[in-house]
Amino acid sequence: MNEADSDRVASALEHLGYTYSPVIEEADVIVLNTCVVRQSAEEKAIGRLTTLLPVKRSRPDVVINMMGCLVGIKGSNPLQKRFPYVDVFSAPSDPRPLIEYLIQRDTHNEEEAETARRFALMDGELTLPQPQVGKQVSAYIPIQYGCSHACAYCIIPYRRGIEKSRPPEDILHEARALVAQGVKEITLLGQIVDRYGKDEPSFPSLAQLLAQMSEIEGLERLRFLTSHPNWWTDELLEAVATLPKVMPHIELPNQAGDDQVLTNMRRGYSAEKYRQIIQHIRERIPGVSIATDIIVGFPGETEEQFMNTYQQLAELRLDMVHLARYSPRKGTLSERTMPDDVSDEEKWRRFRMVEKLEEEVMREIHARYLGQTVPILFEEKQKKRWKGRTPTNKLVFVESDADLHGQILPVKVTWTGPWSMLGELA
Ligand code: SAH
Repeated sequence: MNEADSDRVASALEHLGYTYSPVIEEADVIVLNTCVVRQSAEEKAIGRLTTLLPVKRSRPDVVINMMGCLVGIKGSNPLQKRFPYVDVFSAPSDPRPLIEYLIQRDTHNEEEAETARRFALMDGELTLPQPQVGKQVSAYIPIQYGCSHACAYCIIPYRRGIEKSRPPEDILHEARALVAQGVKEITLLGQIVDRYGKDEPSFPSLAQLLAQMSEIEGLERLRFLTSHPNWWTDELLEAVATLPKVMPHIELPNQAGDDQVLTNMRRGYSAEKYRQIIQHIRERIPGVSIATDIIVGFPGETEEQFMNTYQQLAELRLDMVHLARYSPRKGTLSERTMPDDVSDEEKWRRFRMVEKLEEEVMREIHARYLGQTVPILFEEKQKKRWKGRTPTNKLVFVESDADLHGQILPVKVTWTGPWSMLGELA
């Protein structure tokens, strides 16, 4: 989501005449886009901001913009005191405060300002930031802002605001613009992306939107994330199963495999329901890949409850686990009402256990690809090897002197490991 937000700011800045600078110390405008989903992310953002202080001291004209979830939707007062050298604060997904600041500074009259404003912020006119035009193979489009679900541990609804779907026309327009600039693959983003359109009766469902997007000529692959088990529908499953451009890869977090922990987390489903959804998806789409998110060490999580999660993962053998140790976030339900009582050491132990299990699972799943020929979309060259992905979103590296950029080519898999595969053009 933040990557998509950053691209949007970059694009608005370019409409104002700014160009990309690869060296922070030489930039006239520095945008620090922040994440606070866990304490470690927040610390990283603050650490990074601290390194900008000497830059501001040596060049007071530089404009520093702090953006994203550290600022949140409620504005910036406590941050302003703490970081007086930041010129502009802006909420997630919102380039306007920065653009407005630059327009006020750089334009001479209201007419000129209005023209610049319209040009920089025109919605649905997203273009790729310059260094990426013709180079970026895969792009993100947020189709929904915010979240209204309020899982007990999660700060996102407080910082990104309530759920709001974007109009389908804007999304389609943006997608066409991206494809015209060379993009081959688009990933639709939302906190609970399978709820797309539920807040606006006239909007299509996610499945219908995927069907509309499939008609864009030149667009080769479509993905979406992240789904929530409660909103997963047969209609969406059918869309993935039948629309050729929609890739067989589903991001469906369970967070825990124990009913009491799931209740404490306010997730709204049982471990058994999650298991059934996975089974149902696999029956309909053989070979599908499914990723999940897991939090270990949620308040009150006993050894037995953790083992239920572990056992469920061992049984389901999912393709990927995005794994996190519970981190209390100020203002959330769990932070306010549930003591963070699993020790750091114990969180790490559980984390490593799941990590080790998942490494074995991935090794086993990837081994099935050995000797198979799969269509790979190539993204970029890293040293001597081209990096690409299977429809199931697995990383494949291929040695080749040819320019494979943006092409989809059949590749025979010659080696597999837990994290990636090697192959040769078939
Ligand atoms: N809306 C999406 C993504 C949320 S953030 C979803 O619900 O799946 C990405 C992941 O960060 C979450 O899925 C969760 O596993 C993790 N996460 C969120 N809050 C956390 C917290 N307080 N501590 C640890 N992990 C957290």
